[in-house]
Amino acid sequence: MEEITKTAHKYAVKNAFEHGGEAQIGAVVGKVKALFPKADLKKVMPQISKAVLEVNKMKKDALEEEYKKFEAKGWELKHIEKEKSLPELEWLKKGEKIITRVAPNPSGAMHFGHARPAVLTDEYVKRYSGKYILRFDDTDPKVKVPIAGIEKEFMRDFEWLGIKFDEVGNASDRLERYYEIIEELIKKGHAYVCSCESEKWRELIWKSKECPCRKKDAKVQMAEWKKMLSHEIKEEQAVVRLKTDLKNKDPSTRDWWMAKVVDEVYHPNQKTAGKHVWPSYNLASAVDDHDMEINFIIRGQEHVSNEEKQRALYEIFKWKYPHTEYFGKISKIGDMTLSKSKMKEIMEAKGVENYDDPRMATIMAFRRRGFTPQAIRKVIVDCGVSMKEVKITLDNFAAANKAVLGEAQEYPFFEEAVKMDVYNLSSGSGECYGEKVEFETGVMELFVDKKELIKYSKKKGALVRFKKAFNAKIDEANEFGGKATFISYSKTDNPILSWVHEMIDVEILMSDGSLKRGFSAPSLLNATGMVHFEGLGYANIEAKKDGIIKCVYAYE
Ligand SMILES: [Zn+2]
Repeated sequence: MEEITKTAHKYAVKNAFEHGGEAQIGAVVGKVKALFPKADLKKVMPQISKAVLEVNKMKKDALEEEYKKFEAKGWELKHIEKEKSLPELEWLKKGEKIITRVAPNPSGAMHFGHARPAVLTDEYVKRYSGKYILRFDDTDPKVKVPIAGIEKEFMRDFEWLGIKFDEVGNASDRLERYYEIIEELIKKGHAYVCSCESEKWRELIWKSKECPCRKKDAKVQMAEWKKMLSHEIKEEQAVVRLKTDLKNKDPSTRDWWMAKVVDEVYHPNQKTAGKHVWPSYNLASAVDDHDMEINFIIRGQEHVSNEEKQRALYEIFKWKYPHTEYFGKISKIGDMTLSKSKMKEIMEAKGVENYDDPRMATIMAFRRRGFTPQAIRKVIVDCGVSMKEVKITLDNFAAANKAVLGEAQEYPFFEEAVKMDVYNLSSGSGECYGEKVEFETGVMELFVDKKELIKYSKKKGALVRFKKAFNAKIDEANEFGGKATFISYSKTDNPILSWVHEMIDVEILMSDGSLKRGFSAPSLLNATGMVHFEGLGYANIEAKKDGIIKCVYAYE
């Protein structure tokens, strides 16, 4: 309310000053409406009227003084954005708790694609004080092979994003449980061991026809299954399938495979040693969700057909399927890649398995680039939970990050620096990017950006202002350096020339993986975190080593 009164007063002053001393109430109401879309106009109308009346009574001098005061601060009040928030869970009964989970595959570092469901889920967990389970989906030792040690990195990234779990576990710990389910299904005639060649099987199933294995009785199936477990049946010789409706609209959901044999298993979980039968994602996920009493899941649209598959299993056991929400794909994510093959390419080119290259949309890379977890969470929440494909620009991240960090301190960035001699100085002082510099009478050697200086090569006699210091006349300017003559310290509108009195080496790892080298001001030695390089953009200071300040580029 107070905020609205202040706004009404401010815009009444503006309107009155610009219209001969009398503010129009309609104009002020319009501004309030634009800035506070949620405000109840009927309720705030008396305040607006009062503000307008008071301003219209002001004397001309007082009005002008106040107008100038506001003008100095800038008119556009921060636009109060309509809070973007996630929809309520309509199905949730009063007093009912949500039990939910994320199930990342630890076959690579955590990236934005993992963070998205995790953050959205976390928002709901916090809103409804639910139970949150992290389950590493590590049951594919063949294609999505789990990487030893990567789970620790996931935990660090989750924590950094402000996500805490009530339980953490691995699907690979539960192989025996999946076997138990398969046996139960076989006994009840709901599953079969299929040894058909996959192409032939697919041909049949697409025509809604069953394969010969499906008809065999449960005892034969069980014997075959035991051979899978004992590894008498080898990889690609057989799989276990669930019997579903062969007329299912989507052929990929018909008789989906639940378990297969893997001959050579490389798995960081020692408890899986000697196990050659591995569940499909759908079997593991369905059973775990049931056993863990999950009642709510948020996940990507690629899981829509998985839900259909898993529901077939849930129906057999008369389990209750969790409530699900799906979100659409990300078509673009700033200047970073989510593509696994591109990430692999980058890492292979570097010859190391490092996941923090700024070209990749991993959480490690976001952190290196100086993005805050709050900014990442905001971008994710802003994308919402909808099947609509989203395109996230670097500007989205930058705006969210700037809102968290505030304005960063500015520093120069000279890709090439040249010497500039300033003659006839009289004593005084200037400011070099936050550092006070004393000038003595006589000649002083400063450094400027070569590109900037060359612009003056044909403008002999041009007047410039050495940024936050003094005015001077350019006497000489070329690619090797220049000379200038001091004029005065008083403030002028001369074109600004950035300068430093000492060069500091800077290296910026750019978002395309290249390294940009240049020079900056000595005050950068005391800076930490995000800084703003003039003419280049924002970068995060990562290290200060061997006299070089190493940064990672963030955004423009
Ligand atoms: Zn078959």
